[in-house]
Amino acid sequence: MPRHIGPSADDVAVMLKTVGASSLDELMKQTVPDEIRLSAPMGIGEGWTEEEVLAHLRRLASQNQVMTSLIGQGYYGTVLPAVIQRNILENPAWYTAYTPYQPEISQGRLEALLNFQTMITELTGLDIANASLLDEATAAAEAMSLAHRVARSKASAFFVDAECHPQTLTVLKTRAEPLGITIVVGNPATDLVASDIFGALFQYPGTSGVLKDLRPFADAVHQAGGIVAVAADLLALTLLTSPGELGADIAVGSSQRFGVPMGFGGPHAAYIAVRDAHKRNLPGRLVGVSVDSAGNPAYRLALQTREQHIRREKATSNICTAQVLLAIIAGMYGVYHGPEGLKAIARRVHGLTATLAAGLKALGATVETSHFFDTITVQAGAAAQDILVKARAAGINLRDAGGGRLGISLDETTTAEIVYAVWTVFEKTAGQVESMARGLSAAGSALPDTLNRTSAFMTQPVFRSCQSETDMLRYLRRLADKDLALDRTMIPLGSCTMKLNATVEMLPITWPGFSAIHPFAPAEQTTGYQALFDDLERWLCAVSGYDAVSFQPNSGAQGEYAGLLAISAYHRHRGQENRNICLIPASAHGTNPASAQMAGMKVVVVKCDAGGNIDLADMREKVQVHAADLSVFMITYPSTHGVFEQNIREICDLVHEAGGQVYVDGANMNAQVGLARPGDYGGDVSHFNLHKTFCIPHGGGGPGMGPIGVKAHLKDFLPGNPAATETSLAVSAAPFGSASILPISWAYIRLMGDAGLTRATQVAVLNANYIVSRLSEVYPVLYRGSHNRVAHECILDLRPIKDQTGVSVDDIAKRLVDYGFHAPTVSFPVAGTFMIEPTESEGKAELDRFCDAMLGIRAEIGAVEAGRLSAEQSALRHAPHTSDVVTADEWDRAYPRRQGAFPEGVAFTTKYWPPVGRIDNAHGDRNLVCTCPDISEYME
Ligand SMILES: *Cc1c(COP(=O)(O)O)cnc(C)c1O
Repeated sequence: MPRHIGPSADDVAVMLKTVGASSLDELMKQTVPDEIRLSAPMGIGEGWTEEEVLAHLRRLASQNQVMTSLIGQGYYGTVLPAVIQRNILENPAWYTAYTPYQPEISQGRLEALLNFQTMITELTGLDIANASLLDEATAAAEAMSLAHRVARSKASAFFVDAECHPQTLTVLKTRAEPLGITIVVGNPATDLVASDIFGALFQYPGTSGVLKDLRPFADAVHQAGGIVAVAADLLALTLLTSPGELGADIAVGSSQRFGVPMGFGGPHAAYIAVRDAHKRNLPGRLVGVSVDSAGNPAYRLALQTREQHIRREKATSNICTAQVLLAIIAGMYGVYHGPEGLKAIARRVHGLTATLAAGLKALGATVETSHFFDTITVQAGAAAQDILVKARAAGINLRDAGGGRLGISLDETTTAEIVYAVWTVFEKTAGQVESMARGLSAAGSALPDTLNRTSAFMTQPVFRSCQSETDMLRYLRRLADKDLALDRTMIPLGSCTMKLNATVEMLPITWPGFSAIHPFAPAEQTTGYQALFDDLERWLCAVSGYDAVSFQPNSGAQGEYAGLLAISAYHRHRGQENRNICLIPASAHGTNPASAQMAGMKVVVVKCDAGGNIDLADMREKVQVHAADLSVFMITYPSTHGVFEQNIREICDLVHEAGGQVYVDGANMNAQVGLARPGDYGGDVSHFNLHKTFCIPHGGGGPGMGPIGVKAHLKDFLPGNPAATETSLAVSAAPFGSASILPISWAYIRLMGDAGLTRATQVAVLNANYIVSRLSEVYPVLYRGSHNRVAHECILDLRPIKDQTGVSVDDIAKRLVDYGFHAPTVSFPVAGTFMIEPTESEGKAELDRFCDAMLGIRAEIGAVEAGRLSAEQSALRHAPHTSDVVTADEWDRAYPRRQGAFPEGVAFTTKYWPPVGRIDNAHGDRNLVCTCPDISEYME
C-alpha cells in the first residue's frame, strides 16, 4: 500500500506546511463539505500485501476451468506472439500511455494505430477505418446509427440478418429503441424488403458458420437508397472476397482473434471501416497523417470536430475511451505475420474445419453447413445435451445453439488431436472414429467458389518488414521510445487520473485462468470470476454507497448510457415514460450530453455561476419549468472545475422533489473514495471509470471499464446477458464487459484497504493544492471551493497570458514537451486553460520538477511580456524542439540553441527528444490520409 502513494510521510509534512494546513485531516475538513463527509470506514478492511493478493488471485484463477472452447460466436482461441505479449501488453511504455491528444509525444502509438487502420481497410476492402471501437456488438450499433445519418432512404427500419451473433442483435435492439428505429430480423433471401429499410446488417460468415454471397442483397438495399453494413471475421477475410467488393458501405467486427486472448469477453478492439463518402460521419478516433513544423510527415488524431468533446449531443457518438492497446496488439499481429502468414493461419483453420465436417458426416452426424470457413452447425436432435456433456468431460466446450443444434468453431490453436476428440464425442460406438479416420480422404475447400478472395491485401512495406523476431523486437522498441508514458514522467491530465498502474495489479491478466475463458462458457466453469465480481461489487458499493453494480459497460461513456437507460426504464415502469428531459451543467464532459442523446433524451443545459458552481437560480428555474418531464440530472462531483460544490445535497434534493433521478458522473471518484459517497448525498446511479480511480491503465486510449452502481430501486433495470434471448437490455457484447482487466481493480482495492484508499484520496487532494500553492502566484487558478481549496485537480487560467502576450495554451503545452512532460488537459472544461491533476502517485520531487518547469515557462513568457522578443520569435512558439532542429548548421532564432533544447532543469543525460516538431492540424484535416503509405509512394 505505501508504495502506491508518492509522497513520503516527511514530504506530506513539508507539503502541508506549503499549503498552510496543519494536517491531512484539516485539509479535508476545509475541502469536502461537512454535511457529506463519510464518518465511518467503508468496510473494506485492512490492506493486504502484494504476496497475499497474488496468492488469492491465483486461487480465483484456478477456480476458472480453462477448456478448449469451440463455442465461436465472435470469440476464438488465438496465439499472442510472445514478442508482442512481453513488449506491448506487459510493457508500461505502451500500457500506461494516454490517448494521443498530444501527438508530438505519441508518434509511436499513432504509427501502431495507423498500421491497425491500414490492416482493417485492406482486409475489408473499404477506404477508411478508425482506431478501434469497444466491441463487435457496439460497432454494429454504431454502423446502424451511421447508416441512419447518411442513408438517402428515410425509412425508419433497419434489417438485421438472423445470422448475426445473438449478442449483436440484443445490443442493436437496445440501441435502436430510444432512437425510434425498428429492427427487422430475418433471412435476407426471403424477408428483405429493401424499400422498408434505411440500412441492413449481414454477418459474414454467419453465426452458424454459413457463407453466402451478399451481392444480391447489397444491390437491393442500394437500389432503395439504403446503406449496407457487414459484420465480418478478419481471419476469414484473408481467404474471402472482401465486404467492400461485395458492396458493403460499412464493415464492422472484432479483431480479437488477431492475438488478443478471449478474456471472458474482453477487452478486445472492434473495428469499423467505411467508404470514403462517409468518413466525416465515422464514429470514434481516427489517426491521420499530417506534417510538422519542418514539413516532415507526422501522425495525429484527425477530424476531432466530429467528437463529443466538441459537438456534445450532436456528436457522431459518445465513444471516448476505446480499445487502443488491443488495436495495437492486433495491428502488430498483422505486422508480424504479414499477409502470407495470416493466409497460412486461415488456410490451416479452414482445412481442419473441412476435415472435421467430413469426419462428422462420415460418422453419420447431420452437418447443416455446406459452405463455411471455420464454423459448422450440427443438428444433433435429442442427443445434443448428451453430446455437450460428453464434450465437456473431454475438456471441450461446444456451442448450444438451441433446438438440438450444436455449433463448432475452430481456431488458430486447434490441433488434429482436438478434431479427433470432437469426433469421439459424436461417436456412437467405441472404435468408430478410428476406422472412420483411416478411411477419410483429404477434405477439399468448403469456401464457395464465388467468394474466393482474388484481391491482394496488406501490400504496404510495414507488413513485410518485421517477420523476424529481432526486427519485430526493435520495431516495437523504436516506437515505444518515441512516446511519453507514465514510465517516464508524470502525466498531469485533469479528469483522466493518470495514477500508478502497479505491476502486481497487471500480472494476473495474462494468466490463462483469467485470459483463456470464453465469455459464453458455462457458469460452472467460471466460479473464480464470479467470486471476483462478487468481491468487487461489494467493495464498489462500500466505496460509493450504492446497492448493486453492473460490470457490463466497457467504458465510462457506456456506463453513462447504461445508467440513463436504467433511469428511463424505471420511469416507464412507473408509468411516467413522458420523462425525457436530461439536465446537464455547462461544465459537463462531452460524453454526458452525447450519451443522453443516444438514450433518447432531450438535453437542457444548466448554467454555471462565476465561481464555476451550478447556478442555483438557473437550476431551480429549469427544474421547475421541466418538472413534469424531468428524467435525470447529470452532475460530475467534485465538479469538472475541480471543486467540491457546497450545496450538492440541496441540488440532488431539488431533482428528487421534482420526480427526477440523479446521475453522478463518477470520473472524479479519486477525490472522494473514503471521504464521501455519491449514494449518500443523493446519487441514484454512477459509473466508475476503473481506468481512472481504480488503476486500470489507459493503454494509450483504452481499454477501460465503466461499471455502474445503482440504488436498489434501479437494480431491476440493469443490463442482462446479451446472448440470452430473453434479455431486452444489453450495452456490450459480453455479459461482464472487459472482464479480464477487473483483477487489476480488485488487486488495487485489496492492496489498499480502507485506510490506504482514504489516504490515497487525501494525498491526491494535497498534491493538487500543493501545485496551486506553488503556481497560483503567476498562473491564476480559475475556480476554488471553500477555504480557497481545490479538490484533486485545478484549472490554471492561461487566457490573460494569451491576451497580453500572444503566447497560447498550445505554446505552453508544447513547451512542456521540451522539459520532458506530457501537458495537462488543454481547454477542457474551459477553453484557454490547463486542468492539472497530479494524483496521489506522484511524489514531491516530481511535483516540484513539474512546477519548476511551469515557472521556467512563465519566465520565458515574461521575456515576451517585457518586449525582449515576440511570441513568434520565442522558444514557446517553436516548441517542441527536435534534435534535428537544434543541431542544424543554421541557427537564426532569437534565443540560444541550448535554451531551446535544454531549458533550466533538463539534464542532457535524461533528455526526451520529441521525434517531430509541432504538428499542423489543419493540414491533416484538409488532406486526410489515414493509412500507411503504399509501396508506390516509396518508389516515387
Ligand atoms: C473520462 C470521463 C468520462 C468518459 O469516460 P470514458 O471511459 O472515456 O468513456 C466521462 N466524464 C468525465 C468527467 C470524465 O473525466
